[in-house]
Amino acid sequence: MSQHFSSSSERGIVVQLDRGFPLVRLDDGRMVRCKHATALVKGEKIRAVIGDKVSVDVSDNADVAQIAEILPRSNEFLRRDPAERSQAQVLAANFDTVIVAHPLAELNVRRLERELVLAHETGARVVVALTKADLASDDQAAQNEDLARRIVGESGAVEVVSEAVPPSIELLRSHVPAETIAVLIGRSGVGKSSLVNLLAGAQVQATTPVREADGKGRHTTVNRAIVPIGGGGFVVDMPGVRGMGLWESDAGIEAAFADVVARAAECKFRDCTHADEPGCAVRAAVEAGTLHSERLASYQRLVKENDDQHAAAEEAQRIRGRTGHPRRRA
Ligand code: GDP
Ligand code: ZN
Repeated sequence: MSQHFSSSSERGIVVQLDRGFPLVRLDDGRMVRCKHATALVKGEKIRAVIGDKVSVDVSDNADVAQIAEILPRSNEFLRRDPAERSQAQVLAANFDTVIVAHPLAELNVRRLERELVLAHETGARVVVALTKADLASDDQAAQNEDLARRIVGESGAVEVVSEAVPPSIELLRSHVPAETIAVLIGRSGVGKSSLVNLLAGAQVQATTPVREADGKGRHTTVNRAIVPIGGGGFVVDMPGVRGMGLWESDAGIEAAFADVVARAAECKFRDCTHADEPGCAVRAAVEAGTLHSERLASYQRLVKENDDQHAAAEEAQRIRGRTGHPRRRA
């Protein structure tokens, strides 16, 4: 006689990733640890990421459930895979907002520009949190906030936050209303875990003291989890994300450098490289002092990195014998 086990197919969302085993919160609130169905992972390496909506087979007789299907994503946070550089890595899916955490006292313009490109590429709303504001002198704070606002432009919100100033945390919380998910990015030590804890109103994420020499905090955890925040939505900290290489970021560059792109639209030649062509509106703006030459240099560096990545990915696809997927923008 065969034993009878019941098994059911249920919907859920990936709320934590722990060594590749997604923890899924089912629609009925139950939490199940999952593995991927073999059909899902053979050939193309398709893995569920934080925020993925999944269909899960839950069976009475197994310790782990099985992810049978990953539902189509509304958006993704992508970067170039630091290990396999001709491939993309998805860090999170189905979120509404990207919060870019950046220390107010150590504003790094190049890094902020890159973070903004990646954030905008997702299509989500972008909020820059200028963190650890208490560590900046008044002059420095005013100067850096102004600089950050100019870099962000109309494309996103900017909030100055400090763990010692509760209203600043409330301002940030107002960007993550109920039912929405925000992804928190920024280099290690900028105060992301502290922000998650403050937003959650509880110690959910371990922080470590800043090392004297380089001012970097270090993580005691590399779990990525969706954390509910008091009276609001959810936030995902992405610890351990070091490399932030661009991946197919045409739209992100366009959004993060809207000022440069608007001028380029006025150039005489559509394919103007803003080098020595006649009728170049971008160079005219630099000469007139309305566009900073460093801003233009940043734009050109990121466009080049994006083009190089695109070419390398196409080449890798060609070698693998597949047809390249069409670029999202011409
Ligand atoms: P993460 O690596 O981005 O998650 O950064 P952490 O949240 O671990 O913070 C790194 C260090 O900065 C820790 O020692 C925190 O206590 C400290 N820190 C975080 N927020 C603030 C703040 O608003 N002001 C000051 N002075 N220190 C902060
Ligand atoms: Zn031009």
